[in-house]
Amino acid sequence: MATIIAVTNQKGGVGKTTTSINLAYYLAKNGKRTLLIDFDPQGNATSGLSIDKQSLDTTMTEVIMGKKKLIDAVMPTEFTNLWIAPTTPELANAEVELTQVQHRFSRLKYAIQLTPTQYDFVIIDCPPSLSLLTVNALIAAQYVLLPVQAEFYALEGLGQLLETMKLIRKNLNPTLDLIGVLPTMVDSRTSLSTQVLDEISKHFPAKVFKTKIPRNVRLAEAPSHGLPIGAYDRFSKGARAYKAVTKEVLDRVG
Ligand code: ATP
Ligand code: MG
Repeated sequence: MATIIAVTNQKGGVGKTTTSINLAYYLAKNGKRTLLIDFDPQGNATSGLSIDKQSLDTTMTEVIMGKKKLIDAVMPTEFTNLWIAPTTPELANAEVELTQVQHRFSRLKYAIQLTPTQYDFVIIDCPPSLSLLTVNALIAAQYVLLPVQAEFYALEGLGQLLETMKLIRKNLNPTLDLIGVLPTMVDSRTSLSTQVLDEISKHFPAKVFKTKIPRNVRLAEAPSHGLPIGAYDRFSKGARAYKAVTKEVLDRVG
């Protein structure tokens, strides 16, 4: 069975998509058959892997509405062992329609369960909200990976996410676990970054990854070339960090 990881934080711009793309890429590089599900109507993971949204026949919108199977949306990428289920902004409309239907919280879970293809990992890039889409991801996943930006407001709002996880554990997905907290955009030269890292470690003892993702311009450039960092500049600091954190993820999954 696939290990399913939801990359989530309801705060915007903290590095969810960057983490999803690059973790998926390095898992694939490690020989793991990996499916990246773009589950954010912004579709940043889709464009980050240079997929032209205009040309798409089936996306996560049809999958979540139950009109198509997940396998119909899955596309190969130019990288061995890496597939993507893309998305377009229409997913936001689907989310509104979904509020009316039965089993609306478990749509993604069943879509993944019914997929005949075997993956070693499924990575879900979540939107910046605690919406129905995010709840679907949390119900489908075994693990949450929480990217936290090393800035002053980093911990604000996280209580709400942890509360949601607790509720989901109680009712719909008892084994949901936090695989780790990943500090992102860390600037080790500033004392603010260091202070925030201390705070994060205090809040999540034993959960913070050893690897911290540095602020690195190459990581910000890579999506405009439609490439994961490992294919854009594999010697950059950002690439080395994502490679290292992927190893930690593999160790934690066991
Ligand atoms: P959203 O909540 O909108 O989905 P997100 O949490 O997915 O955002 P990203 O899109 O991954 O965040 O990152 C936000 C911006 O910061 C992007 O422009 C990205 O290229 C840039 N970025 C992400 N990580 C880093 C980093 N370590 N160093 C420099 N820039 C980064
Ligand atoms: Mg994103």
